[in-house]
Amino acid sequence: MKNSNKLGINTTCVHTGEVKDEQFKGAVSPIYMSTSYAFDGVDVKRYPRYLNTPNQEMLCKKIAALEHTEDGLIFSSGMAAISAAMLAFLKTGDHVIIQQVIYGGTYNFIVKEFDKYGIEYSFTESDQTEDFIPLIKQNTKIIYIETPSNPLLGITNLETIATLAKQHDLLTMIDNTFASPINQNPADFGIDIILHSATKYMGGHSDISAGAIAGSKEHISQIWETAINFGGNLSDQTVWLLERSLKTLNLRVKEQTKNAMEMANYLENNPKIDAVYYPGLESHPQHVLAKKQMKGFGAMLSFELKKGIDAMEFQNNLQLIKPSMSLAGLESTTVSPAQTTHALLSEEERLERGIKEGLIRFSVGIEEPKDLIADIEQAIKKSLK
Ligand SMILES: *Cc1c(COP(=O)(O)O)cnc(C)c1O
Repeated sequence: MKNSNKLGINTTCVHTGEVKDEQFKGAVSPIYMSTSYAFDGVDVKRYPRYLNTPNQEMLCKKIAALEHTEDGLIFSSGMAAISAAMLAFLKTGDHVIIQQVIYGGTYNFIVKEFDKYGIEYSFTESDQTEDFIPLIKQNTKIIYIETPSNPLLGITNLETIATLAKQHDLLTMIDNTFASPINQNPADFGIDIILHSATKYMGGHSDISAGAIAGSKEHISQIWETAINFGGNLSDQTVWLLERSLKTLNLRVKEQTKNAMEMANYLENNPKIDAVYYPGLESHPQHVLAKKQMKGFGAMLSFELKKGIDAMEFQNNLQLIKPSMSLAGLESTTVSPAQTTHALLSEEERLERGIKEGLIRFSVGIEEPKDLIADIEQAIKKSLK
C-alpha cells in the first residue's frame, strides 16, 4: 500500500498534486471554479460534489502522498470526512468498536446518529489493545481509534490494533488530526483508513474548515460512493487555500513540535504545575510506544495548574497565548477542558476521564518558546495573588 513516491517531505508538500498551468506557466496551481464540465467525449464526469474537480483531484494526490497511501479524498470539514468514512462501511445491524477517548464531535455523531440507523457501538475502557478484544462480536465491522488522544495525549498502539483487526477481518480507522502526517503515518503500521480535520494542522492558520481521508484505492472508492450522496465537498477556492497551507505543513509542524518539547520540559520543571501530559516526556506512561510509532511527538500537550490557581483566571491573564476552542494554528492557544469541551459532564465523570479543574490543553504554535514561557510566568504570578 506504500506510496512509491520517494520525494523528500518538503518537496512532497510543495509539489505533489500541483495543477499545472499549461496555458500561462504560472508558478502556482490555477483555481478551476467551474461547476460545469463538458461530458462530450470525456470519461470522467467532473462535478464539485463528485469530489473530482481539477483542484480537488490533484490535492487528493498530495494527501495520499503525505499519508503513504494510494489515494485520498477531501471534504468541507473533519466531521464530513469522518461521517462519510464510517457510514460508507456500516449498515443496520453492524457493530463498531470505538476507543473511549475520542474527539467530542465524533462522539456526538456516534451517540446521536447511529441509533437511527440501527448501528451498534461499544466504547472501550481505555486505549490499551487488550480492552478492544472482549468487545469484538460476530457483527463487528470497524475498530475506530484516535492517537494521540484529546486532551490527555494517550497513545494507542497502531501495530497491535491493526494486527487484531486483521485477525478478525475488521476495518481500522484512525483520527490522525493531532499528530498530522508529519508526525505519524498510521498506514505504515497497517491501519486502513486515516482521517483528518484539515481545519487543524493541515490548514494550520485557523482560517479554513476542511477534512481529509487517506487509504487504499479500493477503500477510497467505496467511501466516494457514499460521500457523493452526503454532499460534503469543499469549495474549490478553499481547496486552493488548503493546497497553499500544505506547502508549509512540514515547516510549521516541525517547528511547533520542537517548541512543544521545550514547553513540556519547562512546564515539567515548574513548581506551580502539578502534571504535564506530553508523549515526548519520559514521564509519559506510553513514551516508549510513542517513540516507536511517531516520527515526532506533536505540538499538543496538557498540564495541570497547582490547586489555588484558577484555570479560567490563568487563561484570562495570558497576553500572548490565546484562549481558544480550536487548535493547531500557527499561534499558541489554550483551552480548559473542565470548563469547555467537557463542561457537560459531571465532576465525577470528568475525574473518571482524568480531567481535573486545573487542566489546560495547550496547542503550541511557532512563537519563540522564551516568549511563551514569559507569558505563562506572568499569568501564573497574576493568578496567584
Ligand atoms: C476538530 C477535530 C475534528 C473535527 O473536525 P472539523 O473540521 O471541526 O469538522 C475531528 N477530530 C479531531 C481530533 C479534531 O480536533
